[in-house]
Amino acid sequence: MDELSTATAMRRWRAKAQTPVALVPTMGAVHAGHLALVADAQRRCASVVVSIFVNPLQFAPTDDLDRYPRDLDGDLAVLRAAGVDAVFVPSAATFVPADLATTVSVAAVTDRFEGASRPGHFDGVATIVTKLLSVTRPAVAVFGQKDYQQLLVVRRLAADLDLDVEIVGVEIVRDADGLALSSRNRYLSAIERGRALTLSTALRTTADLWTGDAEVVRSALRSLLADADIDVEYADVVDAATLAPLTGMGHRSARAIVAARVGGTRLIDNWPLTR
Ligand code: AMP
Repeated sequence: MDELSTATAMRRWRAKAQTPVALVPTMGAVHAGHLALVADAQRRCASVVVSIFVNPLQFAPTDDLDRYPRDLDGDLAVLRAAGVDAVFVPSAATFVPADLATTVSVAAVTDRFEGASRPGHFDGVATIVTKLLSVTRPAVAVFGQKDYQQLLVVRRLAADLDLDVEIVGVEIVRDADGLALSSRNRYLSAIERGRALTLSTALRTTADLWTGDAEVVRSALRSLLADADIDVEYADVVDAATLAPLTGMGHRSARAIVAARVGGTRLIDNWPLTR
């Protein structure tokens, strides 16, 4: 596995790589959710590049940038064992220089939910994803449905900027009890982890109620979450393609999405609603 720490080195590697190339962008602290993305990328492409970059642009000053889990040596060992071809680990100082003057900003799909809760977050994501795609020029970029809104933002970005890359969204990987895997789960105490389970339990329970009636599932979801000892930021039933909140009945497919604080940890989760 080749380890590349500059855009120049990455481009040089890319010029000689077996094509097609897949990119799997991550912020490290690699877990089985990331590895599912890698496995999907390996099924689709001859070479797989994983980027590890804790993107400072997507964190607000009050967010957890400084304490975000970092374990580069552990990550490299796990990715090497998974058969990844190259890891791109740029330094923040070179990849986000102090005089960076360009921002990529995606409208509409960023209006609500994570976009509203975390102002500037998706500008940071879109800018860095654009840079990663520019440096690695993959045929395929693989993202997780765990960050469902982010996946839609990246799809929109790739389409609008004619980036000629296929954006793939991989299903959420969960622990046996249902908790969606996340690098941030390691912040949770045992008691908080029990509380955090409410997110996936409420989503699963309400998905079973889905008959196409958005109000029924929305109010069931909100009442299940209200009973728990967590601080819900949003819980909604939305159009799976636009994230517009749904009303009324007769919908075939939709997405239930939630964000909540459990102690000091902010968690997100979502579930497909299909019939
Ligand atoms: P992160 O390192 O948290 O920025 O995540 C990197 C990529 O892995 C993103 O596309 C995430 O959506 C995806 N991802 C994170 N957790 C999971 C999970 N539990 N299941 C599937 N994909 C995930």
